[in-house]
Amino acid sequence: MKTKDKLAQYIATTRRTKPAPLATYYEQLFDLLRCLSPGDAFPRLHTTYSVQRRCEVISLDDEVFLVYDQYLGQTINTLNRVFFASPQNTAEAALMYACKYLAENLRVRQRDRLALFFARGYHSLRERVHLPPTSANQLQTTLVMLQEVYVISHEIFHYLCKCDDKMRTSSLRRAVIAFEACASGGLKPEAVQSHAERYGTSMNSDDLRQTADTDFEQWRTYMDRYSEEVASDFHAAESVCDFAARYTNIDFRYIPPALVLVYRHLRFLRLLDEFLADLLKEPRRSCVPDASEMRAHLLRWVLEDTPIGDPSAAIWDDLYGEMQEMHARYNELIEANVFHTLSSWMPTPRKIENEAPSTPTEKLGRAVDHLTGWLPWTEDAAATE
Ligand SMILES: [Zn+2]
Repeated sequence: MKTKDKLAQYIATTRRTKPAPLATYYEQLFDLLRCLSPGDAFPRLHTTYSVQRRCEVISLDDEVFLVYDQYLGQTINTLNRVFFASPQNTAEAALMYACKYLAENLRVRQRDRLALFFARGYHSLRERVHLPPTSANQLQTTLVMLQEVYVISHEIFHYLCKCDDKMRTSSLRRAVIAFEACASGGLKPEAVQSHAERYGTSMNSDDLRQTADTDFEQWRTYMDRYSEEVASDFHAAESVCDFAARYTNIDFRYIPPALVLVYRHLRFLRLLDEFLADLLKEPRRSCVPDASEMRAHLLRWVLEDTPIGDPSAAIWDDLYGEMQEMHARYNELIEANVFHTLSSWMPTPRKIENEAPSTPTEKLGRAVDHLTGWLPWTEDAAATE
């Protein structure tokens, strides 16, 4: 079998796909990225569009492919819009998107009755949620592009580390140095205090010490095991800055918030996967813990030293405050809200799980596809019981 056919077979067996209309756009983006790469080794791009929304590097025969999922880019764009909506809309739209994601992924697992429950939730929320318009302006489009550059570069760096031992060693060393510098400065009790004050919490000195120590221990455990993740983040953040400086005229200040958001979106999707695994009583897929706040914090180290500019300390303090506020907003309006609501709904999905199916599955499945927008919307899909 030819390598190309093997790749097609691999994708067909691991994902639910439809044609990727932007393949040419991603080819062009990928060519630009190849020009920025430090080494000769570089995978070939294959663009897909799948419910799984996954970016991965795979080796087949002697060839290496980066499989990029266009639906992931679309998801990042939607979640950006969710994040920047008014607070009430952000909370509802996050739940709306969670329902869509759950419905689509339950459909893949052929749990159509459950999928229909969430597809209906998606559909009814969609009617009352107002999001900022899609890709209405150049800035929004550029931000999504840079966030996708981040995701792609991160995966490519894992691959480059496998090809080049020297690069791997020096990158890991750099990640550890940055970690130590940030941990000694960023996790002092005073830093925890100012963070707490920002959110109106007062802490006594024992609490402060304890929180700083706990954070530090968690960070260090993470670094011991996953320094390649941090190194890949660094490489990806540098690629984003490099890419932005060469090919766009975006203001540097937008980049750190864009990166914080893409971290948080990826983490949000992973938490939904875990929710799904728990609902279906499947084992959770063991994966790298995301440590997204710590990784976003470490980014300051690399961003302060980028080719894109030399922002003054004052700018950094503002930016850093902004990044912390984004984490807090994401925690409260998106994660806490969505998972609280989903768990309050739980009795119904659990009941559905235990009931015998009453409608032919094929019909149910089609209704889910229409309601979630995977297939074009039709009125009779809404009438399906
Ligand atoms: Zn990674």
